[in-house]
Amino acid sequence: MRINLFKILHDIFGFETFRGVQESVIDRVMASQRTLAVMPTGAGKSLCYQLPAVAMEGCCVVVSPLIALMHDQLRSARALGIRAASLTSVDEDWRETQGQLLAGDLDLLYVAPERASNEGFRALLERARICLFAIDEAHCVSEWGHDFRPDYRLLRPLLDRFPQVPRLALTATADAHTRQDILAQLGIPDDGLIISGFDRPNIRYVVEPRDGPGRQIGDILASNPGPGIIYTQTRAATEKLAASLGAKGRPVLPYHAGLAPEVRARNQAAFITSEDMVMVATVAFGMGIDKPDVRFVVHAGLPKSIESYYQESGRAGRDGSPAVATLLWGAEDFVRARQRITEVEQARQQGERARIAALGALVETAGCRRAVLLRHFGEDPPQICGNCDNCLSPPASIDATTTAQKLLSAVYRTGQSFGLTHIEAVLTGKSNDKIIQRHHDKLTVYGIVGHDEAAMLKPVSRALLVRDALQTNEHGGLMLGPQARGYLRGEEAIALVLPPTRAKRGRRNNDI
Ligand code: ADP
Ligand code: ZN
Repeated sequence: MRINLFKILHDIFGFETFRGVQESVIDRVMASQRTLAVMPTGAGKSLCYQLPAVAMEGCCVVVSPLIALMHDQLRSARALGIRAASLTSVDEDWRETQGQLLAGDLDLLYVAPERASNEGFRALLERARICLFAIDEAHCVSEWGHDFRPDYRLLRPLLDRFPQVPRLALTATADAHTRQDILAQLGIPDDGLIISGFDRPNIRYVVEPRDGPGRQIGDILASNPGPGIIYTQTRAATEKLAASLGAKGRPVLPYHAGLAPEVRARNQAAFITSEDMVMVATVAFGMGIDKPDVRFVVHAGLPKSIESYYQESGRAGRDGSPAVATLLWGAEDFVRARQRITEVEQARQQGERARIAALGALVETAGCRRAVLLRHFGEDPPQICGNCDNCLSPPASIDATTTAQKLLSAVYRTGQSFGLTHIEAVLTGKSNDKIIQRHHDKLTVYGIVGHDEAAMLKPVSRALLVRDALQTNEHGGLMLGPQARGYLRGEEAIALVLPPTRAKRGRRNNDI
């Protein structure tokens, strides 16, 4: 039996050995045990169901959320000589596919999750021989996950109709909470969880506040001649940044969902073969793209979650050679993310808040960034990795609690409607028209911040915004947030992390 598996691994897939947890996952599947495999992107999840699909009698039904992704996988499976087909709304040959399935001529059948609720489909499966249900992107079944898809909830009744058929759920992105939820939702026992190592030791993690992003990104490009990806948050930002970087001589292309399909395909193809190109893209770029020599990934704004950050930054350095992942964040990213929470349904808000808090912990830590990431994925990493910004040059940490209190009182006493520039002017005792007119020079907080302390106001306001002790109104005016009380009462302390480079540069910049 084992010899058989290795022979298939070699003859069909062309690999000499299994990687990481592939072997244990496949062993469980072959023993008909229900399994959830949590493996980072690039770890080789497809093999975990493709190989059993070839080895076992009958067809493996693969549930996958995105038709585009499904068709990529279909093509690569067929290229290996695996008998594969898909049944989706865009497939026209479904009669032929049904025939193949019933005749036992299919190894893999890719379907979209909504298919599961279709009675005709269930009946079809009952007439066929099914050897495995593989549920790809399984975090979509959880409301705790960052990509909940209600259609995934339709899977359970289908799976339960075939209790003897093993089920294999796969995901790259699941924190402990989401994992438990996937197990429960899909009826997989706790001991069916297999987690592979998430560390990517060749990636150097760097996290900096956005402080002149044009210059910051320029610096990164200057020290990284190889291919790289810069993720921006909007299509417009993508185009603008691509144009301004392109003007400096490096080959740069934009990529976002608003570009014509042929332009996207052309840009992607150019990037794949290039040795020095920079792709400025929205997160629409990267899924299903296998370019091993990406040397750097920059996030020009806060990603959606630690999971997405790990996945997107993980597109760097797949070849194992040194690569850099840089995250540039601003307090306004956190403000906006919190505003978006109010737009999602009640049931998902707690999960969203936890996701933002986890990102806050990553950007604010004075400790090892890798340790924060790996702990998030349930690992128990060493305190120091030696290959992130904080490990390489440990930042100074200073107690900024009193400055935070002064700032919060000034926001409160001026009526919670002014931006940081005015608050700074009041605290440092400036006399300008706005201050005189509103009698802000009569406030107890007027002039209570000295010259040296003034430099801390911006980083402190940023930290308070990240922690939801400050919020902004629609005009950028600062207001107290739900966490302000703890700081004002002296129950919460705030330590400020001062990266050495920032201290050296000594720039000041007032847009938070
Ligand atoms: P995932 O879905 O986990 O992101 P894939 O299944 O797309 O990963 O596999 C990522 C890459 O690793 C592919 O290029 C695949 O061919 C390769 N790969 C998978 N398993 C092995 C293995 N055992 N040995 C070598 N390469 C492998
Ligand atoms: Zn580190």
